[in-house]
Amino acid sequence: MAAGLINISDVELHLHEEIDSISYLGAYYELKSTKGNAYSCEVTVVATPLDELSIQFSPLVSVPMRQLQHTHATFVRGLVNPVYFGLKAVSEIPELVATIEDPRLPFTSISILKCYNETDVTYKVFSRQAMTDALLDSIFSVRKETVRINWGAYPHYKAPEKFAPFILDGKHLYYVNAFENAASTMETSAVAAENIARLILSRFFDRKMAAFWFTYFYIAIDLRVSVISSESRAA
Ligand SMILES: Cc1cc2nc3c(=O)[nH]c(=O)nc-3n(C[C@H](O)[C@H](O)[C@H](O)COP(=O)(O)OP(=O)(O)OC[C@H]3O[C@@H](n4cnc5c(N)ncnc54)[C@H](O)[C@@H]3O)c2cc1C
Repeated sequence: MAAGLINISDVELHLHEEIDSISYLGAYYELKSTKGNAYSCEVTVVATPLDELSIQFSPLVSVPMRQLQHTHATFVRGLVNPVYFGLKAVSEIPELVATIEDPRLPFTSISILKCYNETDVTYKVFSRQAMTDALLDSIFSVRKETVRINWGAYPHYKAPEKFAPFILDGKHLYYVNAFENAASTMETSAVAAENIARLILSRFFDRKMAAFWFTYFYIAIDLRVSVISSESRAA
């Protein structure tokens, strides 16, 4: 679906390329990447949290300090150890083990991602801290492969929230993730993206063009929201 939407939009997509500077040069923005490429854009949308990134802006933009809550996701292929859970057999362990929020507990959830057969399973473990090898070796009796990802998952919330502006420079530099001070989910990020698309239509295009593009964007974004919603429900 995502690929289809990109195809009908007739856009150029640059994957696996990190933007490290955004400069306003009068009539357009120049985006430079770590691959040494430069792109000229009349409108630029930042769609990732700026809190832990080092993109250089010229002129500088002002974004309130925000601390991100990190979630450690550890993917283990192997088999859980029933002894760790005080049980006799693997079959007695539920597909999802979730804990209350307590810093003394070493994980917040362990769930089955894929079951190849009775003794070969991929598990997803969420935790507040990185899982050490020793801890994993006590939870799993077999551990063939381990992948660790440390995610800046969502902002620490402290009311009243200080929001970054959605328009970073008063011109055409937009910031979708300013919305995350209200809520940080796939659905709300899709809504924030739609709002930015609406802003661009109303601020950048004239009214006649806006009527055409709004219908087009709305259909595309609505489809995206529908897909994301059904995926999250399925998850
Ligand atoms: C462990 C975990 C579990 C979650 N579970 C759920 C859930 O069950 N349901 C739910 O609704 N939400 C969940 N969320 C939150 C959800 O993933 C986020 O809210 C959502 O992905 C935010 O979308 P986004 O497009 O703003 O940012 P992202 O999905 O983070 O996308 C940002 C993109 O920008 C790219 N990027 C970053 N820097 C640069 C750069 N300099 N140049 C070019 N590209 C760059 C990144 O590679 C990434 O592809 C979860 C998050 C985490 C971490």
